[in-house]
Amino acid sequence: MQTLKRGSRGSDVMDIQNLLLKIGYDPGPIDGIFGLRTEEAIKQFQRNNGLTVDGIIGPNTHRVLQRFLSGNENYLIKSGDTLSKIAQTYQISLNSLMALNPGIDPLNLQIGQVINVPVPFDIVQTDINYTYEIMVRDIQSLKNRYPFIEVGIAGKSVLGKNLYTLKLGNGPVEVFYNAAHHGLEWITSPLLMKFTENFAKAYSQGRTLSGYDLRDIWQRNTIYIMPMVNPDGVNLVLQGLQRDNPFYDQLIAWNNGRMNFGVVWQANIRGVDLNHNYDASWQLSKQAQSTYGIYGPGPTRFSGPYPESEPESKAVADFTRNHNFRLVLAYHSQGEVIYWTYQDKTPPEALRIGEVFARISGYSLAEATGITSYAGYKDWFIDKYRRPGYTVEVGLGTNPLPIAQFAEIYQDNEGVLLAAPIQARP
Ligand SMILES: [Zn+2]
Repeated sequence: MQTLKRGSRGSDVMDIQNLLLKIGYDPGPIDGIFGLRTEEAIKQFQRNNGLTVDGIIGPNTHRVLQRFLSGNENYLIKSGDTLSKIAQTYQISLNSLMALNPGIDPLNLQIGQVINVPVPFDIVQTDINYTYEIMVRDIQSLKNRYPFIEVGIAGKSVLGKNLYTLKLGNGPVEVFYNAAHHGLEWITSPLLMKFTENFAKAYSQGRTLSGYDLRDIWQRNTIYIMPMVNPDGVNLVLQGLQRDNPFYDQLIAWNNGRMNFGVVWQANIRGVDLNHNYDASWQLSKQAQSTYGIYGPGPTRFSGPYPESEPESKAVADFTRNHNFRLVLAYHSQGEVIYWTYQDKTPPEALRIGEVFARISGYSLAEATGITSYAGYKDWFIDKYRRPGYTVEVGLGTNPLPIAQFAEIYQDNEGVLLAAPIQARP
């Protein structure tokens, strides 16, 4: 990570401001701008942690901050401590505490020994711009704290970022949730990440979640989650165009000469709209492009040279082909609408299940028409498998939705994410 100091801007600054606030400092507004108050907060943090007090986040300060950012802090073993007592205090399982401290001998704790314990707040941050790098850190932290989450990699993006998958459960009835096919719609990534954390946390404590019996879901279902299908597009939206991007000149041309990608860019880094790149009426999608003035790569609605031409959509389709999903949810923003049909291929149970989702979320059910009804992931899934597939459009407003909407979006959708595995059972 590069050095951050007064005048620095961006998602990394926002990330650290948010952390400072959580651990009891006052960085001012969480706005991604490193101003005087953030500098003062960093100086205070440095003073309290035996660091050089210069208000600059260089390698040393970052290393200490990183411990908190990864969801852990130090704990000094006292007389009478046992690992199970400490695990109880921090509300995690003994296994999770052992996983946080590889190589530790629980029968031979030394007074004064330093071990890792979880920070007393959740891992997935839901009030900051959720870049790919923040997601990767959260996945690692979740895996440390909840070792029973299985992490996989379904493929790589054009720029080589991992397309991570998370697995909850061991049961025979499989469902699949994915998010952020579209760059501007990155708010759907922390939605699925937060769901993963809340599920894992409640499951590890033997609790229900929103009244759902998680052990029952764990035993009878497997939930697969791909929280960020389009990491290159998400980072382009959140971080802007970086000089070292191999598509630098092309991206500016594809964006009609504009440098501002943050309010328009839905596509992957080659200007292909991933949710118009699946093999379901793909030709119709292609033909409809000119109606929208689309003649090549660009911010939105370009279907690409052929179906699954992009590594991201191919990875999602391959992942689907390699499993036996009974039901899928593709998360997008915005509209508070659930699309549930594809031509005359929609299976009969899809309406009943869609109505359950609509009732839980307060969203309305709708049938897509025109260009939006072609070549999307749920279209392809329904076409190929004749099983229920849904595009869920969260939130209201103009994309990108502000992260301030997160709490309401989460509240609307947690029940849907918990009901889906049950509804998918034969
Ligand atoms: Zn979308």
